[in-house]
Amino acid sequence: MVPTLSETLLFIGPAFFLLYVLNRLFKTRGVTAAGNLGHLWDVKEDHHWNQNALLAEASFCNVCENLILTGGLLCECCGLVSDDKCLDVAIRKFKCKSRIGSKLGLLHHWIKGNFERPTLCDVCNEDCGNDPSLSDYQCVWCQRSVHKNCFSSMTVQCDLGSLKKCIVPPNCFTVKGNRKKVVVKIDKPEWEIDWLPILVFANSESGSAEAVSVLAKARRLLNPLQCIDMKQSSPRQVINSWCHLLYPVVPRILVAGGDGSVSWMLGEIDRLKLQNPPAVAVLPLGTGNDLSRVLNWGSVPEEEDLKGVMLRVANAQEDLIDRWQIVVSPIRHLGIRPPTKKVEFTNYFSIGVDALITLNFHRARQSSMYPFKSRILNKILYLTYGTKDVIEHSCDGLEKKVALHLDGVHIQLPEIESIVLLNIECWGGGAKPWKLGNFEEASYNDGKIEVFGITSSFHIAQMQVGLSSPIRFGQANTVKIVLRGLVPAQADGEPWEQQPADITVTNISKSKILHQN
Ligand SMILES: [Zn+2]
Ligand SMILES: [Zn+2]
Ligand SMILES: [Zn+2]
Ligand SMILES: [Zn+2]
Repeated sequence: MVPTLSETLLFIGPAFFLLYVLNRLFKTRGVTAAGNLGHLWDVKEDHHWNQNALLAEASFCNVCENLILTGGLLCECCGLVSDDKCLDVAIRKFKCKSRIGSKLGLLHHWIKGNFERPTLCDVCNEDCGNDPSLSDYQCVWCQRSVHKNCFSSMTVQCDLGSLKKCIVPPNCFTVKGNRKKVVVKIDKPEWEIDWLPILVFANSESGSAEAVSVLAKARRLLNPLQCIDMKQSSPRQVINSWCHLLYPVVPRILVAGGDGSVSWMLGEIDRLKLQNPPAVAVLPLGTGNDLSRVLNWGSVPEEEDLKGVMLRVANAQEDLIDRWQIVVSPIRHLGIRPPTKKVEFTNYFSIGVDALITLNFHRARQSSMYPFKSRILNKILYLTYGTKDVIEHSCDGLEKKVALHLDGVHIQLPEIESIVLLNIECWGGGAKPWKLGNFEEASYNDGKIEVFGITSSFHIAQMQVGLSSPIRFGQANTVKIVLRGLVPAQADGEPWEQQPADITVTNISKSKILHQN
């Protein structure tokens, strides 16, 4: 018997309904941030396994409790350890540090053994975590340690420990929606009056193992959502999202990187045009780090004491720093005027021999990063190196190719190989050129930039050891450089070859930075 149309519909209707219900039940329940910015946050509460983190110390698998002899993985967020064969069980059995939790109070999240360094037991105050086996516990939020024998005396609730001022607890998030959950608000924890959440930014792509290590350490100390890899997410959008969700609380930003990364971050925040923008602190990585020195964050990485760094960020003073814009209008070439280029900087802009050193270094680094794998790339590299000779001599007699105007006043130039526009006190990895010359006070937020000349690369070396002073041209709000030759140029460590152009440098904004006392 063939079913009639109405009989078919009677069967298909409930079947579709059943499919719809099942689909809703088993759909993965992701959480996103307001304004559809969820993809910017890594909100999945999975472990962040790191394969290389176990090399230094004896580690024990949290599943089978055996000593790991080869391989093994460590979760950067919660510190859980697994050998390769137990990984599936570890993922099923142990939850990672929660990012966006329930509204209930926060409980300690204990992980057994594998302490980074021995600490004191929170109950009996004796050494803890130094047994050659998987014993004793540490909380992934408050970082407190406790002996297995003292465990019963611990409280159930976690107070987040000494960094509570800087942590965004998982129970502060207000989430709406059933199927597609959306974070609509982040509330201030009731118990914290001076709450100052810190967002940590580092770029794992920069090739620095330090950046990777800072992010891993920060994920252990804070809510992993507060730690952002600039390689994966756009800092501008992430900051925008956090600032809106935290409003009226303003987070503080810690940039782990060199001067260039910090300067770039200030520009990104500037472009958001926030009414109350977050202030930026620096965790110096790599070399140079002149801005970091000026703001008292030191010149070498302090990632070993990241907890101390976070507390200093929370207690640092807010200050303003001038930001500058370079407008490059190239002159007509073969009847065509190339497009105008705009570059921003915070620390310095220069043309001449110092930029040539950076340019050569930049090229050497680039060439070693691409070890002759592609023929086209080879050709480009060859062509780039081919111009080296031309650019090498481009700094001789710079004064003949350049006219310099400070606030409209033409400056008579002596024989020089570089002109430097310096916004901060430090330059070239710790030298203080303006101080060497006993000139009038220079400040990074007076709307003026210091302009000086250098006679040779030897002169730079002498200045770096404090044996010579620069040739002072003056301080100005607006600097105009009329360039009639090819010269190397650089702004905040980014070098390029500059063709003949009219260059104007003006103060565009003031950014909020954090100055350590
Ligand atoms: Zn195991
Ligand atoms: Zn984990
Ligand atoms: Zn705890
Ligand atoms: Zn104890």
